[in-house]
Amino acid sequence: MSRLIDRYDASGFDLDGVIYRGPDAVPGAAAAIAGLRDLGVKVGFVTNNAQRPPQAVVDHLNRIGIPTVAADVVTSAQAEARLMAAELPAGAEVLVVGSEALADELRGVGLAPVFRRSAATAAIVVGFEPSLTWEDFNQGCYAVQAGARYFACNNDQTRPTDQGIAIGMGGMLAAMERALPGLEPPMAGKPFRPLLDETVRRLGAERMVFVGDRLDTDIEGAVTVGLDSLFVLSGSHGKAHLAAAGPQERPTWLAWDVRGLLEEPRVAVVEGAASHCRGVTATVADGAVTLDVTPADAEGQADALWAVLTLTWAQADAGTRVNVTEVLEALDLVP
Ligand SMILES: [Mg+2]
Repeated sequence: MSRLIDRYDASGFDLDGVIYRGPDAVPGAAAAIAGLRDLGVKVGFVTNNAQRPPQAVVDHLNRIGIPTVAADVVTSAQAEARLMAAELPAGAEVLVVGSEALADELRGVGLAPVFRRSAATAAIVVGFEPSLTWEDFNQGCYAVQAGARYFACNNDQTRPTDQGIAIGMGGMLAAMERALPGLEPPMAGKPFRPLLDETVRRLGAERMVFVGDRLDTDIEGAVTVGLDSLFVLSGSHGKAHLAAAGPQERPTWLAWDVRGLLEEPRVAVVEGAASHCRGVTATVADGAVTLDVTPADAEGQADALWAVLTLTWAQADAGTRVNVTEVLEALDLVP
């Protein structure tokens, strides 16, 4: 049997929805990471969250049975700090509208983080930190209006929590945009390049696959950097998001969860108005996609979904919108 991972020497992982969900591991994640390491695959954990220091991620992963050291974790704060160090003079004063962890990363690259602006403030950087106040954002705006450069770690619009969908970093940046119209801060986090470039560099990877559960950050980021990607169904996005994905948001591979890296890759072959994946065939007729069989088991439904998706995307690229509502509904095990 050939495994999906046989094609790669390294794998980068998004965390929430891929490795863990809230405090708990995604089932099978710890064994899969151990299996990859046994094969000699380089493994990196990648997060847009600029609030938690790398050690907090390390502790979390160790707690759920994934042995990890700080060098295995790449954060948007680290990538942003590297980006800023390349753009600012050594020792430049940077107003941090964000966490202590972000300030630490700036110190690490030779910049001078402060939490109160001064006449010497050369730049500001915004990073996720839920205890920030309205006044913190205002101080950042005033500094930029006074001539400071503007940087931000990531642009996630929302953040899933156990109480509901919370406002993400993107909401904070949208608020600041009202006072800083037209300014677009350089960002390191997915889907922008620097974070994944930093991961490739850190791992010394020649062929890295990136594993994620969101199309607009993980998969788009991989596409932007030219990396192959594995989309897993264990997190935020599901079949409806996939079916609607444009070329920039389409994964290379599909699996239920990270265990898919150790399994035979799911391959679909599109021929005209049909797509075949492991014995399941999706066809377009009268503007709608149908299946020849609806598998009753989870793996079979993922095969069917991959046939439907590859066909739908090929049709979209040829300028034809096809109806997938009913065929997706019939795949009742897939989120
Ligand atoms: Mg995620």
